[in-house]
Amino acid sequence: MTKKIKGRRINWLLLFGAAGAGKGTQAARIREILEKHGLRVALLATGDLFRNPPGTLDRGVVSQISENMKKGVLVDDAVTMVIAGEALNAKLEEDPDWVILDGLPRNVFQLAAVLFAMTSIGLAHFFTFELAVADSLLIPRLQGRKTCKSCGKVHPASTDLAGACPKCGKVTLFIRDDDSNPKSIRNRLGDYRKTISSVLDALRKLISTLELKDRFSVETVDGSLPEDSVTDRIIKHLDLQDQPA
Ligand SMILES: [Zn+2]
Repeated sequence: MTKKIKGRRINWLLLFGAAGAGKGTQAARIREILEKHGLRVALLATGDLFRNPPGTLDRGVVSQISENMKKGVLVDDAVTMVIAGEALNAKLEEDPDWVILDGLPRNVFQLAAVLFAMTSIGLAHFFTFELAVADSLLIPRLQGRKTCKSCGKVHPASTDLAGACPKCGKVTLFIRDDDSNPKSIRNRLGDYRKTISSVLDALRKLISTLELKDRFSVETVDGSLPEDSVTDRIIKHLDLQDQPA
């Protein structure tokens, strides 16, 4: 039953980007490509984890999360890391070659927790990509986004309001109030840029201090390019050529 965990080496891939920058889309595309190379991939998206917390999680914590989601309040850092830890633990059972994190770490506190997990579980390479998209492009994208009342999944503006939710199949889409106000969107994007630049600064400093250049990389990709160009740019950095296609 117990897998050999000793000596495990995992490639970690972190995707950073503001809401609407395409992290979820890219995470899914990268997973698909890695799997085509015969690699096992564990994908952890905090948005999905908050909507569907692991069954092992304490019920009090679960109801706290759903309260936060309803109010549009960020989930507490410690709670976030406990959920991510539970989910990661379950996925490690499948002995992944890659772990992709979407929406995590959100700040320097979470980064420290992620680094601790990575180094204790086993680290082969650590790839970080920031999907850079200008506010002027993100604001209209976020304004039109629709949240499904049934499953909580956020869909792009192009989603047909009269149609069924692409995720759960129910016909209950509505427009998010807080996303409709350009000022609150601009505030949220400003907050994101402030915290994420401190995360990236901390990572770059760590890499240079520890001379881990060979195993760590931090790249910025133009997230306003077409989806497949963004994917190509990310994949190019992942050193997959020695793997069977
Ligand atoms: Zn739904």
